Amino acid sequence: MPSRRTINTWLPRHRVVLGFAAIGIVILAIVATNFATGSRPAAGMRAAGSNSENAAASEDTPSPADRPPRALYVFFLIGDGMGIAQIQAAQAYLARAHQSTGIPAQPYPPSDPKVYPLAMTRLPVCGLQTTYAADRFITDSAAAGTALACGIKARDGVISKKLDGSDAVTIAELAKDQGMKVGIITSVSVDHATPAVFYAHEASRNNYYNIGVQLANSDFDFFGGGGFLQPAGAGGAEPHVLDIAQANGFTVARGATELAAISPGTRTIAIDPYLDDSQALYYEIDRVHDPETLTLAEYTAEAIRLLDNPHGFFMMIEGGKVDWACHANDARTAIDETLAFDKAVAEALAFYEQHPDDTLIVVTGDHETGGLSIGWAGTRYNSFWSVLENQTVSWFAFAPVFDAYKAVTPWAGVDDDMDQALKDIVLRCFGLNYATLTAFEQRKLEAAYDRSRNGEPLVSAEEDYLLHGSRDAFTVTITHILNQKAGLGWTSYSHTGVPLPVYAIGRGADLFEGFYDNTDVARKLAIAMGVALNN
Ligand SMILES: [Zn+2]
Repeated sequence: MPSRRTINTWLPRHRVVLGFAAIGIVILAIVATNFATGSRPAAGMRAAGSNSENAAASEDTPSPADRPPRALYVFFLIGDGMGIAQIQAAQAYLARAHQSTGIPAQPYPPSDPKVYPLAMTRLPVCGLQTTYAADRFITDSAAAGTALACGIKARDGVISKKLDGSDAVTIAELAKDQGMKVGIITSVSVDHATPAVFYAHEASRNNYYNIGVQLANSDFDFFGGGGFLQPAGAGGAEPHVLDIAQANGFTVARGATELAAISPGTRTIAIDPYLDDSQALYYEIDRVHDPETLTLAEYTAEAIRLLDNPHGFFMMIEGGKVDWACHANDARTAIDETLAFDKAVAEALAFYEQHPDDTLIVVTGDHETGGLSIGWAGTRYNSFWSVLENQTVSWFAFAPVFDAYKAVTPWAGVDDDMDQALKDIVLRCFGLNYATLTAFEQRKLEAAYDRSRNGEPLVSAEEDYLLHGSRDAFTVTITHILNQKAGLGWTSYSHTGVPLPVYAIGRGADLFEGFYDNTDVARKLAIAMGVALNN
């Protein structure tokens, strides 16, 4: 078996003369890469970091001879539920928003910009990964996360365990073993499936307390973002996970001020002071305007400050609520979540600019959610992104508004019509003007309003589910009509099985070119980091 050093030696950019030994190493690296990934060799073995044009920053980094032959700083960013349609919708929405605000959307046709590139799509390397699970074509976040963290196929719901039930080692654990610091950041609860697969091993993703205890007992260095779903167990009588964590040397920070006061080298659990009822950060569109709450990008920046050290770091950053918005078929909220996630990518990219020869950034999703597509029958070839601009709340934040309305407005029975007050609320929350809806759209909205108030299926449970899933009929129908007017369609309230883009830059980035499986993503990361992933 090739040594760890051998399979991870990359040709330094400025050293052309390396002799036959280097050629042998490169051949070994190609063979090892091909063997490890089970796919074709990475196209071109040009030096990692060669994508950087930032020569000034390069001069500040150690000379190639002094550097370890691997990616020292690794950012692995996962947009949960984020497929290519979510990304392109965000780019198109941004171009339109920039037009509205007078900010030029360069460099795409300045006269009529169609897309404004995100940080992630500016990365020079792009590949595609398949996402199927061991037991289903359409994966859940646990099986997909296990593939991304451990390089193995798992059954849905399983957190980093092999099919035989034994624990699978994760790339984050291997990074820690190698002396790198490890950070896990998410906009949802830190015991949720995607973050959990990097530090926990559980038969079910729903064992939130066990997962939390494993976090508290981990040797990782930073956890940031959301809280815990069952911090004292399902019944609330178990030892609190934060007590366990503090006994193990973690410092707990709540809010920007406390986090800013923590010194590098301190093992930290940073929990946002503003969390929803799922212990997640609020949707970006519903953000509380208090400087104590942090964005995903701000957590990323703080993690960089705390984890930066000569032995490197591995950081997993999850944009967890693209998925949640897409489960609800709420395009504008999903776009804002994608943009917030992309700002975390931009933070990683800023770090890369300072350390281009030692940093690897990989950005992908775990699966697509909702079957979002750009194009809807009713608008034929047209897109109207501006339709989304006047939405002011997410589907989630609309619920208390609608509840308050219902509490003061008597229900007159089946076929009750929406009154002007409700039409005004819909206009204020979604920018959807009842008066401008077609007769067909008005009929659909009125029927959904009746369904919402009487609690009975419209025709049958099947038709009911197809029309608005298991969520509030009125809310889903509003976002459907709004999204369709923009020219967007949804096929599902669940995940879908389409392959996902993988974007990369930096040391080892070329490994991520091509079409491969989600299990290969973990293997490629392991190769780039110089760790042996043998699950
Ligand atoms: Zn997911």
